[in-house]
Amino acid sequence: MLIEHGQLQMPKVLIASAECSPLSKTGGLADMTGSLPKALKRQGIDARVITPYHRCIKEKYADRVEHLFCFYVKLGWRNAYVGIERMELDGVTVYLVDNESYFGDRIYRGGYPEGEQYCYFCRAVLDSIPNLGFEPDIIHCNDWHTAMIPMLARTQYCGQIQDRAKYLVTIHNIAFQGKFGFDFVQDMLGVDGKYYSSDYLELNGCANFLKAGCVFADRINTVSPSYASEIRTSSFAEGLEGILNARQNVFGGILNGIDRDVFNPDTDQALPVHYDKCSYRDGKTACKAALQRQMGLQQREDVPLFAMVTRMTEQKGFDLVACVLDDMMCRDDMQFMLLGTGEERFEKFMAAAEHRYPGKLCSYIGYREELSRLVYAASDFFLMPSRFEPCGLSQMIAMRYGSIPIVRKTGGLKDTVAPYNRTDGEGNGFSFSNYDAWEMRDTMRLAMECYQDEETMNRMISRAMEVDFGIDRSAEEYIRYYIWML
Ligand code: ADP
Repeated sequence: MLIEHGQLQMPKVLIASAECSPLSKTGGLADMTGSLPKALKRQGIDARVITPYHRCIKEKYADRVEHLFCFYVKLGWRNAYVGIERMELDGVTVYLVDNESYFGDRIYRGGYPEGEQYCYFCRAVLDSIPNLGFEPDIIHCNDWHTAMIPMLARTQYCGQIQDRAKYLVTIHNIAFQGKFGFDFVQDMLGVDGKYYSSDYLELNGCANFLKAGCVFADRINTVSPSYASEIRTSSFAEGLEGILNARQNVFGGILNGIDRDVFNPDTDQALPVHYDKCSYRDGKTACKAALQRQMGLQQREDVPLFAMVTRMTEQKGFDLVACVLDDMMCRDDMQFMLLGTGEERFEKFMAAAEHRYPGKLCSYIGYREELSRLVYAASDFFLMPSRFEPCGLSQMIAMRYGSIPIVRKTGGLKDTVAPYNRTDGEGNGFSFSNYDAWEMRDTMRLAMECYQDEETMNRMISRAMEVDFGIDRSAEEYIRYYIWML
């Protein structure tokens, strides 16, 4: 808390992120940077967002955007245009950084082009701050794409408004660190050679953006308590365990949450029928019939429908699914629906499997927000066998829609799913420990057994729908972090 003219003031917060829902989204990062500022506002914090003005935003929201000012930033030999636009989204001010050549096609271009996109973004954010008419006390950076901001502020803006702010870096996924050759970083951002050492930016022969964020941030967090413990070990941290252990006094885990207004089966426009925790039986049955019709699955109410909504990568355990899918399809009376996009080998695998099991298995390869919500509502079980999972929002959304999660006990999945216990019938989902396809398969079998017992299933659905994974609880913890930093 700040004291100004004898009055207590809540900190002003600027959240910097590569994506922000509903404007731009490829995953849970966008969900969090979309819902957190709203929740912070509800608790009296002036929280604003700064994010790239991606083409997908321009296409949908241009008429709600107001131009504020423009300037140029130096990126090595380049002089790059920066337009700062502003829009209001559910009462939250969002600043959009406009430059078509950086944010004209994909949110993430991959490799060095992505490095250049986000070096540009970090510089544009820092240089825009004095003219926003909003002096943030806290700058909240998210993942490697914005993790260079604290280092640049402390080393290149000494004594200025950017340097006076405090910096929180949130790690949403430590597998993505932003690793580049130092020459590139020096060229882009003019970083002094003395910072290319293991005390600062260097890790295993690369300039590592996330490491720089961890070194220069005033406080660091990740998105669940279990993942916070995991990434202090070499099995999970991919080289960053040293810096996280060295900074353990300022490092912790805050469980992510979902926007309960956005993900609400009682109001969701993507569903043909609305329902809540009292009326889920009819509601879910109608949604299941609608999805089966839309996706060409057999119209059957009595068969358990398993679903995944996911990035199709090894992180999400897709190789486990690929290993046992044929066995599941041949032996069990079940249906399987996948909505996802990702590695080509997995996409091809699903397309081929769909031909082998028509009416029983279907997939939609692509990114479809509305369809995802119908899948959550229509499915009986939601499969998330992740190799590692920083937090995972999908299992929380699934539970809100009454789809019972089947997860691997790792990271945030461990912190959110209480496994079913045969003895007392407690639990709101299913979980398994080892990264093993057959262990996952056995757990799915147990779920199918429960499906046959209506009373057990109903109790589990009620419990799942009752858990409050709302973002307000996360926001309270973020506020404690912000205040601690001041
Ligand atoms: P991650 O951020 O690692 O991908 P999370 O579970 O934290 O995983 O968040 C994923 C978010 O992205 C959820 O809101 C989920 O519904 C959404 N999502 C993932 N894949 C798709 C898809 N193909 N279509 C629509 N939404 C998707």
